Amino acid sequence: MELIVAKGREDLVKARRGGAVALVPTMGALHEGHRSLIRQARVRADQVVVSIFVNPLQFGPSEDFSRYPRTFDADLDVCRAEGVDVVFHPDAEEMYAADRQVSVSAGHMGSIVEGAFRPGHFDGVLTVVLKLFNLVQPDLAVFGQKDAQQLALIRRMVADLDLPIEILGAPTVREPDGLALSSRNRYLSDDDRQVALALSRALRAGAAELTPARVRAVAQEVLDAAGPRLATDYLALVDPATFAEVDESYAGMAVLAVAATVGTTRLIDNVTLTLNPS
Ligand code: AMP
Repeated sequence: MELIVAKGREDLVKARRGGAVALVPTMGALHEGHRSLIRQARVRADQVVVSIFVNPLQFGPSEDFSRYPRTFDADLDVCRAEGVDVVFHPDAEEMYAADRQVSVSAGHMGSIVEGAFRPGHFDGVLTVVLKLFNLVQPDLAVFGQKDAQQLALIRRMVADLDLPIEILGAPTVREPDGLALSSRNRYLSDDDRQVALALSRALRAGAAELTPARVRAVAQEVLDAAGPRLATDYLALVDPATFAEVDESYAGMAVLAVAATVGTTRLIDNVTLTLNPS
């Protein structure tokens, strides 16, 4: 089946066939992490739509919107190789009317942890994801656990706004040395990359502990050992559904999340762990 490239709503309607539709939203510069999302979508649906859109709304004024990697032709090759049915690639003007007024608010949960460092980011994410849902009308959508707070907020939006869409979370794909795959990794020099390994190393070390205090202390120690070239924004140990910091008595699944800048590249990563098991 020939891959269809859709630019707008009409193209999407024309491309629609019967059966279950899965959507994989991305900003392009596709790598193995995205491929694994596409494969999960393939197994679960009759038609797979991958959206490729660098969403201006989710970038702050000092962030890397203009230099975010755009590799559309290579992305199409990846989509063809993975048996994707439709690539939705709208222009910014197609997505956002110049006089638009209404957007989605991520609420308190969008203003904590990652949201505290990127004001408005999650509002921008939820707004574009809701628009993509309305345009593509998928039965299910696949998101990476790599962006754990984003995934939790999308689940929240689906629940709070009664969206008839199943959300699938997919595990983080890593390099053999532990570095989580990211479109931004291409900006890391060899030296930066060595420093960046502290993120996954800290998470792994923390996740081997059982109490919140130990998890935080052990992970922080690894981050500190990386030296001044690693500028940490936060290390957070949170409830996976609310992203509220857990207290010492918390028992059950938690997310240990980290964000740090190496050189000029900001990286995020997280792991899921069980605290105070009985
Ligand atoms: P983006 O890289 O921002 O275009 O993200 C598109 C989707 O891919 C999101 O749902 C991400 O969580 C997911 N994703 C990004 N990196 C990875 C990875 N290393 N493993 C699994 N999913 C990923």
